[in-house]
Amino acid sequence: KSIVYWMRMGDLRIVDNRALAAASKQAVQDKIPLIVLFLLSPQDCLAHDMSKQRIDFVLRNLSEIKESLGGLNIPLFTVSHTPRHTVPLKVVSLLESFQCTRLFANIEYEVDELRRDLKVLALSKEKGVRPHYFHDRCIIEPGLIKTKDGRAHAVYSPYQKKWIAMLNESIDTYLEESPIPDANSSSIRQDSTFGPLCNTPLPHSVEGFELDPADRETMVKVWPAGSAVAQEILSRFLKTKARSSQLGTTDPLADGAEISNKKSRILMYAEKRDSGNQDTTSRLSPYLAAGVISPRECIRATMSLAGLKKVDAGRTTGIGRWVQELAWRDFYTNVLANFPRVSMGRPYQEKLANVRWEVNEEHLAAWKQGKTGIPIVDAAMRQLNTMGWMHNRMRMIVAMFLTKDLLLDWHLGEQYFMEQLIDGDLASNNGGWQWSASTGVDPAPYFRIFNPYTQSAKADPTGDYIRTYVPELKNLRGPELHNPPMKVADKLGYPRPIVVHAEVRERAIRRYQNPGQE
Ligand code: FAD
Repeated sequence: KSIVYWMRMGDLRIVDNRALAAASKQAVQDKIPLIVLFLLSPQDCLAHDMSKQRIDFVLRNLSEIKESLGGLNIPLFTVSHTPRHTVPLKVVSLLESFQCTRLFANIEYEVDELRRDLKVLALSKEKGVRPHYFHDRCIIEPGLIKTKDGRAHAVYSPYQKKWIAMLNESIDTYLEESPIPDANSSSIRQDSTFGPLCNTPLPHSVEGFELDPADRETMVKVWPAGSAVAQEILSRFLKTKARSSQLGTTDPLADGAEISNKKSRILMYAEKRDSGNQDTTSRLSPYLAAGVISPRECIRATMSLAGLKKVDAGRTTGIGRWVQELAWRDFYTNVLANFPRVSMGRPYQEKLANVRWEVNEEHLAAWKQGKTGIPIVDAAMRQLNTMGWMHNRMRMIVAMFLTKDLLLDWHLGEQYFMEQLIDGDLASNNGGWQWSASTGVDPAPYFRIFNPYTQSAKADPTGDYIRTYVPELKNLRGPELHNPPMKVADKLGYPRPIVVHAEVRERAIRRYQNPGQE
Protein backbone atom coordinates (compact mmCIF):
# COMPACT_ATOMS: atom_id res chain seq x y z
CA LYS A 1 0.00 0.00 0.00
CA SER A 2 1.03 3.61 -0.40
CA ILE A 3 0.03 7.28 -0.10
CA VAL A 4 0.50 9.39 -3.23
CA TYR A 5 1.13 13.11 -3.43
CA TRP A 6 0.52 14.36 -6.99
CA MET A 7 2.84 17.31 -7.58
CA ARG A 8 1.70 19.77 -10.26
CA MET A 9 3.54 22.37 -12.31
CA GLY A 10 2.57 25.08 -9.83
CA ASP A 11 3.72 23.55 -6.53
CA LEU A 12 7.30 22.59 -7.16
CA ARG A 13 8.66 22.62 -3.63
CA ILE A 14 8.85 20.38 -0.63
CA VAL A 15 9.00 23.22 1.91
CA ASP A 16 5.71 24.69 3.16
CA ASN A 17 3.56 22.64 0.79
CA ARG A 18 0.14 21.82 2.25
CA ALA A 19 -0.78 18.72 0.25
CA LEU A 20 2.67 17.22 0.58
CA ALA A 21 2.77 17.87 4.34
CA ALA A 22 -0.67 16.28 4.78
CA ALA A 23 0.31 13.30 2.64
CA SER A 24 3.44 12.76 4.67
CA LYS A 25 1.50 13.00 7.94
CA GLN A 26 -0.96 10.41 6.66
CA ALA A 27 1.84 8.08 5.56
CA VAL A 28 3.37 8.27 9.02
CA GLN A 29 0.01 7.61 10.65
CA ASP A 30 -0.81 4.66 8.38
CA LYS A 31 2.79 3.41 8.47
CA ILE A 32 2.91 3.09 4.69
CA PRO A 33 5.22 4.63 2.12
CA LEU A 34 4.75 8.02 0.49
CA ILE A 35 5.27 8.38 -3.27
CA VAL A 36 5.49 11.67 -5.14
CA LEU A 37 3.98 11.54 -8.63
CA PHE A 38 4.70 14.08 -11.36
CA LEU A 39 2.84 13.70 -14.66
CA LEU A 40 3.82 15.70 -17.68
CA SER A 41 1.22 16.18 -20.40
CA PRO A 42 2.88 17.71 -23.50
CA GLN A 43 -0.54 18.23 -25.12
CA ASP A 44 -1.65 20.30 -22.13
CA CYS A 45 1.53 22.38 -22.41
CA LEU A 46 0.69 23.00 -26.05
CA ALA A 47 -2.99 23.71 -25.45
CA HIS A 48 -2.07 26.23 -22.76
CA ASP A 49 0.63 27.98 -24.82
CA MET A 50 3.20 27.14 -22.17
CA SER A 51 6.61 28.59 -23.00
CA LYS A 52 9.74 26.51 -23.55
CA GLN A 53 11.34 28.65 -20.87
CA ARG A 54 8.65 27.72 -18.35
CA ILE A 55 8.89 23.99 -19.15
CA ASP A 56 12.67 24.06 -18.90
CA PHE A 57 12.35 25.85 -15.54
CA VAL A 58 9.88 23.21 -14.33
CA LEU A 59 12.24 20.37 -15.26
CA ARG A 60 15.23 22.07 -13.66
CA ASN A 61 13.29 22.55 -10.45
CA LEU A 62 12.07 18.99 -10.59
CA SER A 63 15.62 17.78 -10.67
CA GLU A 64 16.35 19.74 -7.45
CA ILE A 65 13.22 18.25 -5.90
CA LYS A 66 14.23 14.72 -6.83
CA GLU A 67 17.49 15.24 -5.01
CA SER A 68 15.81 16.64 -1.89
CA LEU A 69 13.22 13.87 -1.87
CA GLY A 70 15.99 11.32 -2.37
CA GLY A 71 17.57 12.66 0.82
CA LEU A 72 14.30 11.88 2.60
CA ASN A 73 14.07 8.47 0.93
CA ILE A 74 10.86 9.45 -0.84
CA PRO A 75 10.61 8.32 -4.47
CA LEU A 76 9.68 10.77 -7.20
CA PHE A 77 7.89 8.99 -10.03
CA THR A 78 7.77 11.03 -13.24
CA VAL A 79 5.80 10.10 -16.31
CA SER A 80 4.94 11.78 -19.60
CA HIS A 81 1.48 11.03 -20.95
CA THR A 82 -0.45 11.59 -24.19
CA PRO A 83 -3.29 12.12 -25.11
CA ARG A 84 -4.39 14.72 -22.63
CA HIS A 85 -8.00 13.58 -22.36
CA THR A 86 -6.84 10.25 -20.88
CA VAL A 87 -4.69 11.83 -18.16
CA PRO A 88 -7.28 10.98 -15.46
CA LEU A 89 -7.29 7.32 -16.53
CA LYS A 90 -3.51 7.24 -16.53
CA VAL A 91 -3.31 8.77 -13.05
CA VAL A 92 -5.81 6.33 -11.64
CA SER A 93 -4.09 3.33 -13.26
CA LEU A 94 -0.83 4.49 -11.66
CA LEU A 95 -2.57 4.81 -8.30
CA GLU A 96 -3.75 1.24 -8.69
CA SER A 97 -0.26 0.00 -9.48
CA PHE A 98 1.05 1.81 -6.38
CA GLN A 99 -1.77 0.20 -4.33
CA CYS A 100 -2.57 3.74 -3.27
CA THR A 101 -5.10 4.26 -0.48
CA ARG A 102 -5.19 8.08 -0.50
CA LEU A 103 -4.28 10.70 -3.07
CA PHE A 104 -3.17 14.21 -2.04
CA ALA A 105 -2.88 17.25 -4.32
CA ASN A 106 -3.04 21.05 -4.29
CA ILE A 107 -5.89 22.55 -6.32
CA GLU A 108 -5.30 24.09 -9.74
CA TYR A 109 -8.08 26.61 -10.43
CA GLU A 110 -8.01 26.71 -14.24
CA VAL A 111 -11.06 25.19 -15.95
CA ASP A 112 -9.26 22.35 -17.78
CA GLU A 113 -7.41 21.34 -14.64
CA LEU A 114 -10.56 21.44 -12.49
CA ARG A 115 -12.40 19.23 -14.99
CA ARG A 116 -9.47 16.80 -15.06
CA ASP A 117 -9.41 16.67 -11.27
CA LEU A 118 -13.14 16.04 -11.07
CA LYS A 119 -12.66 13.02 -13.33
CA VAL A 120 -9.76 11.79 -11.21
CA LEU A 121 -11.93 12.27 -8.15
CA ALA A 122 -14.75 10.14 -9.55
CA LEU A 123 -12.46 7.43 -10.96
CA SER A 124 -10.28 7.13 -7.89
CA LYS A 125 -13.32 6.77 -5.61
CA GLU A 126 -14.45 3.88 -7.84
CA LYS A 127 -11.10 2.24 -7.18
CA GLY A 128 -11.32 2.76 -3.45
CA VAL A 129 -8.75 5.60 -3.32
CA ARG A 130 -9.64 8.59 -1.11
CA PRO A 131 -8.70 11.90 -2.73
CA HIS A 132 -7.73 14.95 -0.64
CA TYR A 133 -7.40 18.33 -2.36
CA PHE A 134 -5.86 21.42 -0.71
CA HIS A 135 -5.85 25.18 -1.26
CA ASP A 136 -2.21 26.17 -1.42
CA ARG A 137 -1.66 28.64 -4.27
CA CYS A 138 -3.05 31.76 -2.62
CA ILE A 139 -2.68 33.38 0.76
CA ILE A 140 -6.47 33.53 1.08
CA GLU A 141 -8.13 30.81 -0.94
CA PRO A 142 -10.51 31.72 -3.78
CA GLY A 143 -14.15 32.02 -2.81
CA LEU A 144 -13.72 33.24 0.78
CA ILE A 145 -13.74 36.99 0.14
CA LYS A 146 -17.16 38.15 -1.01
CA THR A 147 -19.18 41.32 -1.57
CA LYS A 148 -22.04 42.19 0.83
CA ASP A 149 -24.48 40.30 -1.38
CA GLY A 150 -22.30 37.22 -1.43
CA ARG A 151 -20.74 37.60 -4.87
CA ALA A 152 -17.12 37.54 -5.95
CA HIS A 153 -15.36 40.90 -6.09
CA ALA A 154 -14.70 42.35 -9.51
CA VAL A 155 -12.96 45.46 -8.15
CA TYR A 156 -9.56 45.24 -6.49
CA SER A 157 -9.61 47.83 -3.68
CA PRO A 158 -12.61 46.53 -1.67
CA TYR A 159 -11.24 43.01 -2.20
CA GLN A 160 -7.85 44.07 -0.91
CA LYS A 161 -9.35 45.79 2.18
CA LYS A 162 -11.12 42.58 3.14
CA TRP A 163 -8.07 40.51 2.24
CA ILE A 164 -5.87 42.37 4.71
CA ALA A 165 -8.54 42.40 7.43
CA MET A 166 -9.18 38.65 7.13
CA LEU A 167 -5.50 37.87 6.99
CA ASN A 168 -4.70 39.86 10.11
CA GLU A 169 -7.68 38.42 11.96
CA SER A 170 -6.52 34.81 11.50
CA ILE A 171 -2.91 35.34 10.70
CA ASP A 172 -1.64 32.12 12.25
CA THR A 173 -4.03 30.04 10.16
CA TYR A 174 -3.38 31.76 6.83
CA LEU A 175 0.37 31.95 7.24
CA GLU A 176 0.96 28.67 9.02
CA GLU A 177 4.06 26.96 7.70
CA SER A 178 3.52 23.33 6.71
CA PRO A 179 6.29 20.99 7.88
CA ILE A 180 8.55 19.27 5.37
CA PRO A 181 7.97 15.52 4.98
CA ASP A 182 9.12 13.40 7.88
CA ALA A 183 12.38 11.74 6.85
CA ASN A 184 12.41 9.03 9.48
CA SER A 185 8.92 7.76 9.87
CA SER A 186 7.42 8.09 6.41
CA SER A 187 10.47 7.08 4.43
CA ILE A 188 10.59 3.84 2.59
CA ARG A 189 13.62 1.68 2.31
CA GLN A 190 15.25 1.38 -1.10
CA ASP A 191 14.66 -2.35 -1.00
CA SER A 192 10.91 -2.04 -0.35
CA THR A 193 8.28 -2.55 -3.06
CA PHE A 194 8.36 1.02 -4.34
CA GLY A 195 12.04 1.82 -3.77
CA PRO A 196 13.11 1.24 -7.38
CA LEU A 197 10.73 4.02 -8.39
CA CYS A 198 13.38 6.41 -7.11
CA ASN A 199 15.31 5.48 -10.21
CA THR A 200 12.88 6.77 -12.85
CA PRO A 201 15.02 9.05 -15.00
CA LEU A 202 13.96 12.68 -15.21
CA PRO A 203 13.34 14.07 -18.70
CA HIS A 204 15.73 16.89 -19.66
CA SER A 205 13.32 18.33 -22.19
CA VAL A 206 9.88 17.77 -23.64
CA GLU A 207 9.56 16.99 -27.35
CA GLY A 208 8.55 20.09 -29.25
CA PHE A 209 9.59 22.40 -26.35
CA GLU A 210 13.38 22.22 -26.54
CA LEU A 211 15.21 25.51 -25.95
CA ASP A 212 18.19 26.43 -28.13
CA PRO A 213 21.38 25.67 -26.15
CA ALA A 214 22.29 29.39 -25.99
CA ASP A 215 18.81 30.33 -24.71
CA ARG A 216 18.96 27.55 -22.17
CA GLU A 217 22.31 28.80 -20.94
CA THR A 218 20.81 32.27 -20.48
CA MET A 219 17.81 30.86 -18.61
CA VAL A 220 19.98 28.78 -16.29
CA LYS A 221 22.04 31.85 -15.51
CA VAL A 222 19.23 34.36 -15.06
CA TRP A 223 16.72 32.06 -13.41
CA PRO A 224 18.57 29.39 -11.42
CA ALA A 225 16.37 26.62 -10.08
CA GLY A 226 15.55 25.55 -6.55
CA SER A 227 13.81 26.65 -3.38
CA ALA A 228 17.11 27.70 -1.79
CA VAL A 229 17.72 30.07 -4.72
CA ALA A 230 14.20 31.51 -4.43
CA GLN A 231 14.75 32.05 -0.73
CA GLU A 232 18.02 33.84 -1.46
CA ILE A 233 16.38 36.07 -4.08
CA LEU A 234 13.70 36.99 -1.54
CA SER A 235 16.25 37.70 1.11
CA ARG A 236 18.30 39.94 -1.22
CA PHE A 237 15.17 41.83 -2.21
CA LEU A 238 14.60 42.56 1.46
CA LYS A 239 18.18 43.50 2.19
CA THR A 240 20.07 44.78 -0.83
CA LYS A 241 20.01 47.91 -2.96
CA ALA A 242 18.87 48.12 -6.58
CA ARG A 243 21.54 48.02 -9.26
CA SER A 244 21.24 48.95 -12.92
CA SER A 245 23.90 46.31 -13.68
CA GLN A 246 21.14 43.76 -13.10
CA LEU A 247 19.21 44.94 -16.13
CA GLY A 248 20.79 42.67 -18.70
CA THR A 249 20.91 38.93 -18.61
CA THR A 250 23.20 38.66 -15.60
CA ASP A 251 23.12 36.12 -12.81
CA PRO A 252 20.75 37.51 -10.16
CA LEU A 253 22.86 36.09 -7.39
CA ALA A 254 26.30 36.85 -8.79
CA ASP A 255 27.18 40.17 -7.24
CA GLY A 256 25.97 42.90 -4.97
CA ALA A 257 25.87 41.45 -1.51
CA GLU A 258 25.80 45.14 -0.61
CA ILE A 259 23.52 45.36 2.39
CA SER A 260 21.71 48.57 3.08
CA ASN A 261 18.73 48.16 5.31
CA LYS A 262 17.64 51.75 4.79
CA LYS A 263 17.55 51.56 1.02
CA SER A 264 16.88 47.94 0.30
CA ARG A 265 14.72 47.30 -2.75
CA ILE A 266 11.64 46.44 -0.72
CA LEU A 267 11.92 49.60 1.36
CA MET A 268 12.23 51.71 -1.79
CA TYR A 269 9.48 49.75 -3.56
CA ALA A 270 6.69 52.34 -3.14
CA GLU A 271 8.76 55.00 -4.93
CA LYS A 272 10.81 52.91 -7.32
CA ARG A 273 8.70 49.99 -8.43
CA ASP A 274 7.76 51.57 -11.77
CA SER A 275 11.35 52.32 -12.76
CA GLY A 276 12.49 49.84 -15.34
CA ASN A 277 15.98 51.29 -15.46
CA GLN A 278 16.98 49.54 -12.23
CA ASP A 279 16.16 46.15 -10.75
CA THR A 280 13.68 47.61 -8.29
CA THR A 281 11.29 44.66 -8.03
CA SER A 282 11.80 41.22 -6.51
CA ARG A 283 11.90 39.13 -9.73
CA LEU A 284 10.28 36.33 -7.78
CA SER A 285 7.44 35.79 -10.28
CA PRO A 286 8.92 32.68 -11.98
CA TYR A 287 9.41 31.11 -8.54
CA LEU A 288 5.92 32.05 -7.35
CA ALA A 289 4.26 30.88 -10.58
CA ALA A 290 5.98 27.49 -10.40
CA GLY A 291 5.43 27.29 -6.64
CA VAL A 292 9.16 27.08 -5.95
CA ILE A 293 8.54 29.49 -3.08
CA SER A 294 5.28 29.83 -1.18
CA PRO A 295 3.50 33.21 -1.05
CA ARG A 296 3.07 32.61 2.70
CA GLU A 297 6.84 32.56 3.05
CA CYS A 298 7.03 35.92 1.23
CA ILE A 299 4.54 37.51 3.64
CA ARG A 300 6.18 35.98 6.72
CA ALA A 301 9.53 37.40 5.58
CA THR A 302 8.07 40.91 5.25
CA MET A 303 6.66 40.64 8.78
CA SER A 304 9.95 39.68 10.28
CA LEU A 305 11.73 42.45 8.34
CA ALA A 306 9.24 45.00 9.68
CA GLY A 307 9.33 43.42 13.15
CA LEU A 308 5.53 43.32 13.15
CA LYS A 309 3.04 40.68 14.25
CA LYS A 310 0.48 41.92 11.71
CA VAL A 311 0.75 42.27 7.96
CA ASP A 312 1.28 45.79 6.62
CA ALA A 313 -0.45 46.52 3.30
CA GLY A 314 -0.29 50.33 3.44
CA ARG A 315 0.28 52.22 0.21
CA THR A 316 3.00 54.46 1.58
CA THR A 317 5.56 51.94 2.78
CA GLY A 318 7.64 49.80 0.47
CA ILE A 319 6.76 46.67 2.41
CA GLY A 320 3.03 47.46 2.28
CA ARG A 321 3.11 48.18 -1.43
CA TRP A 322 4.86 44.89 -2.11
CA VAL A 323 2.34 42.97 0.00
CA GLN A 324 -0.37 44.59 -2.15
CA GLU A 325 1.16 42.97 -5.23
CA LEU A 326 0.79 39.57 -3.60
CA ALA A 327 -2.83 40.52 -2.95
CA TRP A 328 -3.19 41.27 -6.70
CA ARG A 329 -1.95 37.76 -7.35
CA ASP A 330 -4.65 36.36 -5.05
CA PHE A 331 -7.23 38.71 -6.60
CA TYR A 332 -6.65 37.53 -10.16
CA THR A 333 -6.72 33.88 -9.09
CA ASN A 334 -9.97 34.61 -7.28
CA VAL A 335 -11.37 36.15 -10.48
CA LEU A 336 -10.28 33.11 -12.49
CA ALA A 337 -11.90 30.71 -10.04
CA ASN A 338 -15.15 32.68 -9.79
CA PHE A 339 -15.60 33.74 -13.41
CA PRO A 340 -14.45 30.70 -15.41
CA ARG A 341 -15.29 32.46 -18.69
CA VAL A 342 -12.06 34.46 -18.39
CA SER A 343 -10.03 31.26 -18.69
CA MET A 344 -12.08 30.23 -21.72
CA GLY A 345 -11.09 33.15 -23.91
CA ARG A 346 -14.08 35.39 -23.05
CA PRO A 347 -13.71 38.97 -21.83
CA TYR A 348 -14.97 39.68 -18.32
CA GLN A 349 -16.97 42.63 -19.74
CA GLU A 350 -19.25 40.71 -22.09
CA LYS A 351 -20.34 43.90 -23.85
CA LEU A 352 -16.81 44.25 -25.21
CA ALA A 353 -16.73 40.76 -26.73
CA ASN A 354 -17.30 42.12 -30.23
CA VAL A 355 -14.84 45.01 -30.51
CA ARG A 356 -13.78 45.06 -34.16
CA TRP A 357 -10.02 44.47 -34.01
CA GLU A 358 -7.60 45.30 -36.79
CA VAL A 359 -6.01 42.43 -38.68
CA ASN A 360 -2.41 43.34 -39.46
CA GLU A 361 0.25 40.63 -39.51
CA GLU A 362 3.05 43.14 -40.11
CA HIS A 363 2.17 45.16 -37.04
CA LEU A 364 1.87 42.03 -34.94
CA ALA A 365 5.26 40.75 -36.11
CA ALA A 366 6.90 44.15 -35.46
CA TRP A 367 5.46 44.16 -31.94
CA LYS A 368 6.64 40.63 -31.22
CA GLN A 369 10.14 41.28 -32.52
CA GLY A 370 10.57 44.66 -30.83
CA LYS A 371 10.71 46.57 -34.13
CA THR A 372 7.81 49.01 -33.80
CA GLY A 373 9.99 52.12 -33.89
CA ILE A 374 8.81 53.08 -30.39
CA PRO A 375 11.92 52.56 -28.24
CA ILE A 376 10.24 51.70 -24.92
CA VAL A 377 7.96 49.13 -26.58
CA ASP A 378 10.87 47.61 -28.49
CA ALA A 379 13.13 47.47 -25.43
CA ALA A 380 10.41 45.74 -23.43
CA MET A 381 9.61 43.17 -26.13
CA ARG A 382 13.29 42.43 -26.58
CA GLN A 383 13.65 41.99 -22.81
CA LEU A 384 10.82 39.46 -22.99
CA ASN A 385 12.40 37.65 -25.93
CA THR A 386 15.83 37.36 -24.26
CA MET A 387 14.93 36.86 -20.59
CA GLY A 388 11.50 35.23 -20.71
CA TRP A 389 10.44 38.01 -18.35
CA MET A 390 9.42 41.68 -18.46
CA HIS A 391 9.15 44.43 -15.87
CA ASN A 392 5.52 45.05 -14.79
CA ARG A 393 5.31 48.67 -16.02
CA MET A 394 6.67 47.60 -19.38
CA ARG A 395 4.10 44.80 -19.58
CA MET A 396 1.42 47.46 -19.14
CA ILE A 397 2.97 49.73 -21.77
CA VAL A 398 3.34 47.04 -24.47
CA ALA A 399 -0.09 45.58 -23.75
CA MET A 400 -1.73 48.99 -24.00
CA PHE A 401 0.21 49.67 -27.20
CA LEU A 402 -0.96 46.40 -28.81
CA THR A 403 -4.59 46.77 -27.83
CA LYS A 404 -5.09 50.53 -28.27
CA ASP A 405 -2.42 51.93 -30.60
CA LEU A 406 -2.35 48.91 -32.91
CA LEU A 407 -5.94 47.94 -32.05
CA LEU A 408 -5.01 44.28 -32.30
CA ASP A 409 -6.98 41.62 -30.41
CA TRP A 410 -5.73 41.27 -26.83
CA HIS A 411 -5.87 37.47 -27.16
CA LEU A 412 -2.89 37.67 -29.55
CA GLY A 413 -0.84 39.48 -26.96
CA GLU A 414 -1.97 37.22 -24.15
CA GLN A 415 -0.94 34.18 -26.17
CA TYR A 416 2.47 35.58 -27.17
CA PHE A 417 3.21 36.43 -23.54
CA MET A 418 2.35 32.89 -22.44
CA GLU A 419 4.58 31.49 -25.19
CA GLN A 420 7.55 33.56 -24.00
CA LEU A 421 7.16 34.11 -20.25
CA ILE A 422 8.98 32.00 -17.72
CA ASP A 423 6.42 33.19 -15.13
CA GLY A 424 3.40 32.59 -17.42
CA ASP A 425 0.34 32.31 -15.20
CA LEU A 426 -3.13 32.24 -16.74
CA ALA A 427 -4.80 34.27 -13.97
CA SER A 428 -2.24 37.11 -13.77
CA ASN A 429 -1.55 37.19 -17.50
CA ASN A 430 -5.21 37.23 -18.44
CA GLY A 431 -5.88 39.80 -15.72
CA GLY A 432 -3.08 42.04 -16.99
CA TRP A 433 -4.16 41.76 -20.62
CA GLN A 434 -7.82 42.38 -19.91
CA TRP A 435 -6.88 45.36 -17.74
CA SER A 436 -4.94 46.86 -20.64
CA ALA A 437 -7.65 46.04 -23.19
CA SER A 438 -10.26 47.59 -20.84
CA THR A 439 -12.30 44.39 -21.04
CA GLY A 440 -11.49 42.95 -17.61
CA VAL A 441 -12.38 43.32 -13.95
CA ASP A 442 -11.41 46.75 -12.65
CA PRO A 443 -9.93 47.72 -16.05
CA ALA A 444 -8.17 50.80 -17.35
CA PRO A 445 -11.03 52.99 -18.76
CA TYR A 446 -10.91 52.70 -22.56
CA PHE A 447 -10.40 56.42 -23.07
CA ARG A 448 -7.38 56.58 -20.74
CA ILE A 449 -4.79 55.47 -23.23
CA PHE A 450 -1.09 55.47 -22.34
CA ASN A 451 1.08 57.79 -24.38
CA PRO A 452 4.09 55.50 -24.91
CA TYR A 453 6.54 58.42 -25.06
CA THR A 454 5.41 59.99 -21.78
CA GLN A 455 5.35 56.54 -20.18
CA SER A 456 8.85 55.94 -21.49
CA ALA A 457 10.29 59.05 -19.86
CA LYS A 458 8.67 58.08 -16.53
CA ALA A 459 9.53 54.37 -16.56
CA ASP A 460 13.06 54.78 -17.88
CA PRO A 461 14.24 58.18 -16.63
CA THR A 462 17.96 57.49 -17.18
CA GLY A 463 17.42 55.66 -20.46
CA ASP A 464 19.44 52.67 -19.25
CA TYR A 465 16.58 50.27 -19.94
CA ILE A 466 16.21 51.26 -23.60
CA ARG A 467 19.96 51.37 -24.15
CA THR A 468 20.36 47.87 -22.66
CA TYR A 469 17.82 46.22 -24.93
CA VAL A 470 17.96 48.43 -28.05
CA PRO A 471 21.68 48.69 -28.77
CA GLU A 472 21.03 50.64 -32.02
CA LEU A 473 20.13 53.58 -29.74
CA LYS A 474 22.98 53.19 -27.25
CA ASN A 475 24.51 56.59 -28.00
CA LEU A 476 21.30 58.58 -27.63
CA ARG A 477 20.30 60.52 -24.53
CA GLY A 478 17.26 62.49 -23.30
CA PRO A 479 14.12 63.05 -25.45
CA GLU A 480 15.92 61.78 -28.60
CA LEU A 481 16.26 58.38 -27.00
CA HIS A 482 12.59 58.09 -26.10
CA ASN A 483 11.36 59.40 -29.46
CA PRO A 484 14.18 59.46 -32.04
CA PRO A 485 13.73 62.00 -34.87
CA MET A 486 13.23 60.26 -38.24
CA LYS A 487 16.65 61.32 -39.56
CA VAL A 488 18.42 59.99 -36.49
CA ALA A 489 16.48 56.71 -36.59
CA ASP A 490 17.25 56.25 -40.30
CA LYS A 491 20.95 56.85 -39.72
CA LEU A 492 21.08 54.33 -36.87
CA GLY A 493 19.16 51.67 -38.81
CA TYR A 494 16.31 51.87 -36.29
CA PRO A 495 12.74 51.54 -37.68
CA ARG A 496 10.41 54.54 -37.97
CA PRO A 497 7.27 54.30 -35.76
CA ILE A 498 4.74 51.95 -37.33
CA VAL A 499 1.86 54.15 -36.13
CA VAL A 500 1.39 57.78 -35.09
CA HIS A 501 0.17 57.71 -31.51
CA ALA A 502 -2.04 60.84 -31.66
CA GLU A 503 -3.94 59.48 -34.68
CA VAL A 504 -4.46 55.90 -33.57
CA ARG A 505 -5.50 57.01 -30.10
CA GLU A 506 -8.65 58.60 -31.55
CA ARG A 507 -9.35 55.49 -33.63
CA ALA A 508 -9.25 53.31 -30.50
CA ILE A 509 -11.64 55.57 -28.60
CA ARG A 510 -14.12 55.54 -31.50
CA ARG A 511 -13.91 51.76 -31.82
CA TYR A 512 -14.49 51.17 -28.11
CA GLN A 513 -17.40 53.62 -28.03
CA ASN A 514 -19.18 51.64 -30.73
CA PRO A 515 -17.85 48.09 -30.49
CA GLY A 516 -18.70 46.07 -33.55
CA GLN A 517 -20.02 49.07 -35.55
CA GLU A 518 -17.23 51.56 -36.09
P1 FAD B 1 7.15 42.24 -7.79
O1 FAD B 1 6.85 43.65 -8.13
O2 FAD B 1 8.32 41.98 -6.94
O3 FAD B 1 5.82 41.63 -7.14
C1 FAD B 1 5.86 40.48 -6.28
C2 FAD B 1 4.93 39.40 -6.80
O4 FAD B 1 3.58 39.84 -6.77
C3 FAD B 1 5.18 38.99 -8.24
O5 FAD B 1 6.25 38.08 -8.33
C4 FAD B 1 3.83 38.40 -8.62
O6 FAD B 1 3.70 37.09 -8.17
C5 FAD B 1 2.86 39.29 -7.87
N1 FAD B 1 2.40 40.39 -8.73
C6 FAD B 1 3.00 41.58 -8.94
N2 FAD B 1 2.25 42.35 -9.77
C7 FAD B 1 1.16 41.62 -10.06
C8 FAD B 1 0.01 41.86 -10.89
N3 FAD B 1 -0.17 43.01 -11.53
N4 FAD B 1 -0.90 40.87 -10.99
C9 FAD B 1 -0.76 39.70 -10.35
N5 FAD B 1 0.31 39.42 -9.55
C10 FAD B 1 1.25 40.36 -9.42
N6 FAD B 1 2.53 38.01 -13.50
C11 FAD B 1 2.80 36.70 -13.47
O7 FAD B 1 3.24 36.18 -12.44
N7 FAD B 1 2.58 35.91 -14.58
C12 FAD B 1 2.09 36.43 -15.75
O8 FAD B 1 1.89 35.68 -16.71
C13 FAD B 1 1.84 37.82 -15.81
N8 FAD B 1 1.42 38.40 -16.96
C14 FAD B 1 1.15 39.76 -16.98
C15 FAD B 1 0.67 40.34 -18.17
C16 FAD B 1 0.40 41.71 -18.22
C17 FAD B 1 -0.13 42.31 -19.50
C18 FAD B 1 0.60 42.51 -17.08
C19 FAD B 1 0.31 43.98 -17.11
C20 FAD B 1 1.06 41.94 -15.90
C21 FAD B 1 1.35 40.57 -15.83
N9 FAD B 1 1.83 39.96 -14.64
C22 FAD B 1 2.08 38.60 -14.63
C23 FAD B 1 1.97 40.72 -13.40
C24 FAD B 1 3.34 41.37 -13.15
O9 FAD B 1 3.76 42.08 -14.27
C25 FAD B 1 4.44 40.39 -12.75
O10 FAD B 1 3.98 39.54 -11.72
C26 FAD B 1 5.68 41.11 -12.25
O11 FAD B 1 6.20 41.95 -13.25
C27 FAD B 1 6.72 40.11 -11.82
O12 FAD B 1 7.89 40.74 -11.41
P2 FAD B 1 8.39 40.66 -9.91
O13 FAD B 1 8.39 39.26 -9.45
O14 FAD B 1 9.67 41.41 -9.83
O15 FAD B 1 7.22 41.44 -9.18
